[in-house]
Amino acid sequence: MTDKNDRHSERQQKLKETVDTKIAQAQTVKGLVLVITGNGKGKSTAGFGIAARAIGHGLKCSVAQFIKGTWDCGERNLLEQHNVEFQVMKTGFTWETQNKETDTAAAQVIWQKCKSMLQDETLDVVLLDEITYMVSYNYIELAEVVEAIENRPKMQSVVITGRAAHRTLIELADTVSEIKNVKHAFDSGVKILKGIDW
Ligand code: ATP
Ligand code: MG
Repeated sequence: MTDKNDRHSERQQKLKETVDTKIAQAQTVKGLVLVITGNGKGKSTAGFGIAARAIGHGLKCSVAQFIKGTWDCGERNLLEQHNVEFQVMKTGFTWETQNKETDTAAAQVIWQKCKSMLQDETLDVVLLDEITYMVSYNYIELAEVVEAIENRPKMQSVVITGRAAHRTLIELADTVSEIKNVKHAFDSGVKILKGIDW
């Protein structure tokens, strides 16, 4: 037993040394680009989690929601009470009526607002929820997104969510998480639930 404990302490000590070294080496201070992609549930939830975390520290945050349409949105209801500006794509893109012309126009309206957010020195975090689809469908030009993100204020962080993030966005990002679908209640016929799914 003592042997086992010794080995455990030794391993923990080594781990601590490795982590301490990494912490000491991490010297760069800058805003981050985060991509949260994949087919599993939790991408937007994670994006809004970052927004909530930032606001909890008194930082300033803005949100652009592509796709979401006119549904009620729990996060929006809460965050708007904390002076978070929301730009929501109300018309255009839906899964049912895909009309390239109106969808592109709707995407462009909100994208212009995003460009202002990405130039706003007072914003600490910008959440671009579901923007990956706009890029995949060519409703917004990839090069424009890259340019706006690269030229943003140095300390501003950007969170991008949505499935199938373009590889250029993945290359551009500092942190990329891919959420894997293991199972989802919807597949066994369970209805989406207020407070959990929206
Ligand atoms: P959430 O908003 O819950 O974090 P998400 O952003 O990862 O989910 P989206 O692709 O944006 O996922 O889809 C949003 C809606 O679709 C939510 O209601 C969510 O529960 C549901 N959903 C997410 N992943 C799956 C899945 N793998 N199968 C079925 N429904 C899903
Ligand atoms: Mg989402």
